[in-house]
Amino acid sequence: MRGQRMLDQPVTVLPGVGEKKAQALKGLGLRTVRDVLFSFPRTYKDFQKVLEPHQVEVGAIQLVRGPLLQLHERPISQGRRLIQASLGGQLGLTWFVHHRAPGPSFLYRKLQRVKEVWVYGQVKEGGLFPEMISPEVYTRQPEHQGLMPIYPLAAGITNNQRVSWVKFALKYLAEIEECLPATWRARYLDRREALRQIHFPTDWAHYERARERLVFEEFFLFHLGLQRGQRYRAGVAHKPDGDLVGRFLAHLPFELTKDQQAALQQVAKDMEAPLAMRRLIQGEVGSGKTIVAEYGAVKAVASGGQVAMMVPTEVLAVQMAERLKASLEPLGINVALLVGNMKPKEQEAVRAALAQGEVDVVVGTHALITDKVEYHNLTLAIVDEQHRFGVRQRAALLGKGNPDLLVMSATPIPRSLALTMYGDLDITEIRQLPANRQPVDTRLIHPAKRADVYRYVLSRIKQGEQAYVVFPLVEESEHVDLKAAVQEMEALRRGLLAGARVGLIHGQMGKEKEEVFQAFARGELDVLIATTVVEVGMNVPNATVMVIENAERFGLAQLHQLRGRVGRGNKPGICFLLAYNHSAQSRARLEVVRRSNDGFFIAEEDLRLRGPGDLLGVRQWGQPYFRLADLQQDRELLQLAAEAARELLSRDPQLKGYPELAAELDNYPV
Ligand code: ADP
Ligand code: MG
Repeated sequence: MRGQRMLDQPVTVLPGVGEKKAQALKGLGLRTVRDVLFSFPRTYKDFQKVLEPHQVEVGAIQLVRGPLLQLHERPISQGRRLIQASLGGQLGLTWFVHHRAPGPSFLYRKLQRVKEVWVYGQVKEGGLFPEMISPEVYTRQPEHQGLMPIYPLAAGITNNQRVSWVKFALKYLAEIEECLPATWRARYLDRREALRQIHFPTDWAHYERARERLVFEEFFLFHLGLQRGQRYRAGVAHKPDGDLVGRFLAHLPFELTKDQQAALQQVAKDMEAPLAMRRLIQGEVGSGKTIVAEYGAVKAVASGGQVAMMVPTEVLAVQMAERLKASLEPLGINVALLVGNMKPKEQEAVRAALAQGEVDVVVGTHALITDKVEYHNLTLAIVDEQHRFGVRQRAALLGKGNPDLLVMSATPIPRSLALTMYGDLDITEIRQLPANRQPVDTRLIHPAKRADVYRYVLSRIKQGEQAYVVFPLVEESEHVDLKAAVQEMEALRRGLLAGARVGLIHGQMGKEKEEVFQAFARGELDVLIATTVVEVGMNVPNATVMVIENAERFGLAQLHQLRGRVGRGNKPGICFLLAYNHSAQSRARLEVVRRSNDGFFIAEEDLRLRGPGDLLGVRQWGQPYFRLADLQQDRELLQLAAEAARELLSRDPQLKGYPELAAELDNYPV
């Protein structure tokens, strides 16, 4: 091999990528050309056919061209407009837009200037003719033909740029080696071909084959990584509960639920045993997992050990550190925070204290696993919101000593699936919510009542409480939607929420996001208007109200997770679901969330109602961990891959006979 491989080069070798774009790409987790190649489309637009209005098929998502007739616009409620038109007299078109200023809306003016348009969206049953609600609209024929890949974006990066970089990377496909053992190669699409097809599928059938191959590969590597040498190893035998743990338990501010008690007992047993603990605590948001972590921490410290707790974001780290300081420092336990945005000197001091054994419990982000961090005697590693971390990060933390491992997850996945997914962990569930916790009062609201909802929000703010307003994710920069959504958020801030202290965050913002979060957590803002970036695990007990705009555009499990942010203190939470699409189907979906409070049930219903054929939602919410795979949809492949990995490792635990595979495991960007 001459020189270095192109795929290992940093993204700055890509055409048009300088330092600034490289930074933005880093935010998307892309550092090298290989990363670009292995970052797959979120979804595709099906531009394979351009139809005439009379050719549309109800239920399908289609691209249709035709003359725009009978265009008109009218207000429907404060700040909202309805635009209607007909495509060639055969297809009804409707858009809802936010527009507060006098005069016609931006979209209306744009449409007025053209005679012919291309619309892309789902065809629905209409009155006389089929219709599309809020389709995307183009005033020129979209350039891309076939299936157009849509990538995750960040500020300053367009989809077209991502397409061109993928094309560049694909030129070096020869550098990619096949990694599956021979028995499996025969079953699945060739690796290079799969990579080509996943970015630019010839058609849906090719897409399916490519996806199947890559999902299998992803699960297979995942399970190899998971199972390789982690189970049944010797660990620390912590002491039985003594004075310190006794004092901790005696001063709990509440009575433990049965599930919490059971979890504590299980953890005690694991930690006292001479084998390493590998335990997952699964429980919904608000079920009270933190107490289990605290208990484990006290127990470790009582045995002379140290504890590291890793959480996915700095905001969560700060919150958790404060919480642990409040509960553990009265017991004489030293708690420290270690995150990347602390001053280098401060970080240095914490690291020194850790190495000396002066800090007992450290809470942090990835900063906990860098090479610079050394522990005096790490005997318990805790990973919170586990689905946000990869196997490698977990392994890196475990590599800092020989600690017991406690993992906590709030992602409600059915038990059978959890068993496969967390193949290397024992599972404890906390299903019971604390007794004083009332379920979040959830209401389905017609948009005509929108102003009332915000009036109510303001009234709660007057009582010193806080609120979240959530909008569907803002991410497609070339899209009319982005502008509309940001405008909409701004309009809300200046309009219905005028007078309140409002912070605004969306996916296209950079670092300021964290600052706004923090300000909200500190109570310096009354309302946080956000896209779905409101983190899982975010705990602001004073937040009691949530408004979810365009609720019909969220997955059910996601709605459930979102509303779990409110009512975490002693006041009950209330959640308003504003749905602008009031079809029976959309209502039925939202009713599930309104009526049930069981995350596991909702996850199952979501899958059932959404159905497996929802190709446009290729990458549904829920498992940010996998690049492509979907734990619900791909159960069978997961099972196959887990078995394949187990079988292979039983024959060759070190993968000595499979150098390509071992190399790939090191590459595996988790
Ligand atoms: P999770 O991490 O599972 O989402 P937390 O551990 O943050 O949940 O607990 C949510 C809230 O409930 C916290 O404010 C916590 O103090 C409180 N809590 C936990 N367990 C109980 C209990 N048994 N009784 C009353 N309140 C509890
Ligand atoms: Mg938690």
